[in-house]
Amino acid sequence: MAQEDVFKKLVSHSKEYGFVFPSSEIYDGLAAVYDYGQMGVELKNNIKKYWWDSMVLLHENVVGIDSAIFMHPTIWKASGHVDAFNDPLIDNKDSKKRYRADVLIEEQIAKYDEKINKEVEKAAKRFGDSFNETMFRQTNPRVLEHAAKREELHTRFSNALNANDLAELRQIILDYDIVCPISGTKNWTEVRQFNLMFSTEMGSTADGAMKVYLRPETAQGIFVNYLNVQKTGRMRIPFGIAQIGKAFRNEIVARQFIFRMREFEQMEMQFFVRPGEELEWFKKWKAIRLKWHQALGFPASKYRYHDHEKLAHYANAATDIEFEMPFGFKEVEGIHSRTNFDLGSHEKYSGKKLQYFDPELNESYVPYVIETSIGVDRMFLSVMAGSYCEEELEGGDKRVVMKFPPQLAPIKLAVLPLVKKDGLPEKARSIIDTLKFDFKCQYDEKDSIGKRYRRQDAIGTPFCVTVDHQSLEDDTVTVRFRDTMAQERVAIADLASIIGEQVSLKSLLKKITE
Ligand code: ATP
Repeated sequence: MAQEDVFKKLVSHSKEYGFVFPSSEIYDGLAAVYDYGQMGVELKNNIKKYWWDSMVLLHENVVGIDSAIFMHPTIWKASGHVDAFNDPLIDNKDSKKRYRADVLIEEQIAKYDEKINKEVEKAAKRFGDSFNETMFRQTNPRVLEHAAKREELHTRFSNALNANDLAELRQIILDYDIVCPISGTKNWTEVRQFNLMFSTEMGSTADGAMKVYLRPETAQGIFVNYLNVQKTGRMRIPFGIAQIGKAFRNEIVARQFIFRMREFEQMEMQFFVRPGEELEWFKKWKAIRLKWHQALGFPASKYRYHDHEKLAHYANAATDIEFEMPFGFKEVEGIHSRTNFDLGSHEKYSGKKLQYFDPELNESYVPYVIETSIGVDRMFLSVMAGSYCEEELEGGDKRVVMKFPPQLAPIKLAVLPLVKKDGLPEKARSIIDTLKFDFKCQYDEKDSIGKRYRRQDAIGTPFCVTVDHQSLEDDTVTVRFRDTMAQERVAIADLASIIGEQVSLKSLLKKITE
């Protein structure tokens, strides 16, 4: 199936089964804002708990906070967001559609990669087992030609970005014949900078209202509390502060479902280290974070690091962890070595000392910072995309099954009485009554058992427990496993341990500490 179709199906599946709804839908929606439904909120909470526990349970020296969304406006001056949190914007005069100039060029670069991959695929088919991919990539003239063009564009693009040369970005778009996908024309405006922060007013006008911003990242709430936490928690460097919370960005191009939203949620951790040790810690956190993703069990080939072309004004190293979405490899998490920029800048703007006295070195300094920053919604999308499967069954039937890692599945087990009579519903309810304290359960007695299995597959429930007449006699049930569809007769008394072993977050957390 074409990847575009997979994506469309995923979006409609998300809505049909209560994962994600367009926000304000009865008023025709609000662009790039989404609501999570009854299944979505469970999945999202499980993702957040997995992240939170991996930070604050597994690391003695990482603690959490929950800071306010509104903050003093000078914070955003100090952080550089007022002056530099911009995207280069370009409009097509014919379609009146707005684009990010950098994204248009990145898509052009990706086209060369696609061409190269197509050549490789064709050759692999032609040569079969004797195919040497590395050799082919190094020697095939067509591949080399595409690679050279890609490199040329790439260099020009990074130079323009680094020099903040907006006219050059436009010129690249013209030189490479990049057209608007809607109008098909090259009738482009100039490239302009556009600030992504939302602002509002705090206080009544009579008081002299103050312009405040909706935070575009949660990180600053951590920096301004750095000293509070360090002192009250008696934290010693190296240590980290973690936070999960909403962030807001007035994104220019808000497409691709929950990949790019105007209101979203971040899970960020700032790790404070000695100056000079930051690159070592950067490497460590890069590895820890990739392991966190990979523990979920999706194929390793779906992840890759992508080092940044253009470092942000505060960073001395940065990488993204990308996941292969149906629309290509995309950033899910950023890991940045932010130097002492933020704390140093808050010292200047606030006039307060934000230094750490290091008893081992017997000196004070502004700590350096490694940040790990992951979007909950993008993570959610990657889990949905990695889990979505369509399978042909025997007898020509089809099923859509969300093969969620069981620890993240919204519903852990469904309890299904085979028939709606003979005391089977009561028996089923009694099983739920003992298991509901540990697992999110669902009871379903409507329709044939086959249809009920399909419904549970569609929401990714790892276990279906069927109660039949034998259950009344010997206290056993059949457990049906989502991925294999295999069924097994087990004692009701063993259900808690069979299910618990597979769905507990502990098993995931253990994997990342191995
Ligand atoms: P992009 O280049 O895709 O705009 P970014 O590099 O600006 O992302 P960061 O500022 O590093 O993103 O934010 C950290 C994380 O927050 C990202 O890796 C992503 O998961 C998430 N994120 C950022 N912007 C959005 C958004 N508009 N919608 C959903 N998630 C987002």
